[in-house]
Amino acid sequence: MENRVKILIIEDDKKIADFLSMALRAKDYQVIRAACGKEGILQFCTMAPDIILLDLGLPDLDGEEVIREIRKVSEIPILVVSAREMDEDKIKALDAGANDYVTKPFSMGELMARVRVMERYMIGKDYTRPENVYHFDELTIDEDRRRIFLGQEEIHLTPLEYKLLMVLVVNCGKVVTHRQIMKEVWGYAEDKNSRSIRVCMSSLRRKIEKDPSHPHYITTEIGIGYRFIEKEREETDA
Ligand code: CA
Repeated sequence: MENRVKILIIEDDKKIADFLSMALRAKDYQVIRAACGKEGILQFCTMAPDIILLDLGLPDLDGEEVIREIRKVSEIPILVVSAREMDEDKIKALDAGANDYVTKPFSMGELMARVRVMERYMIGKDYTRPENVYHFDELTIDEDRRRIFLGQEEIHLTPLEYKLLMVLVVNCGKVVTHRQIMKEVWGYAEDKNSRSIRVCMSSLRRKIEKDPSHPHYITTEIGIGYRFIEKEREETDA
């Protein structure tokens, strides 16, 4: 029985693919490689990987198309690896269903931390919510009773603040784009009105963050969206 986690790397840059494979193998992951989108989809169908590492700039298909194809049939965790200047593509990739991204150049520690988050998605989406109560350091969210506590003190949120908090919490560790927030919280398909998000976010932060100008629970991914902290804080082995 092979029970090591199997990672499919879809990356056309041989140097980066070599580097990723070497690092992942050293951490005892099993690695499969594909140098273009079509080959990646084929490997996904035939090799049953557990996690996909996807470069967005591929010679044949758009990374986003690869995600859309795979999402038709599978919820496999997809971690996008992309260059910094491609913010718009990252957003499209997240909207298409990618779980998260790392930006090139990244440290091995950062990549491994993200891969471990992907492993937790493998186990099941429910890993963060025993009995619908979430604990993040001082913050406790009882979803069934709609009650939120910071330490012993109860926090009162408006319905929009609560929705905004929950869309981030259920995706904890993962960046949620402005467009996704607009859709989930306000019900709009477009993210034109990102000012509403900023206003709601700053009042939410004033309520849950000790120092709203240095937020601990919700970090800003500039130009992309927001990320709620991961449930388990992990050491990165850079
Ligand atoms: Ca590339």
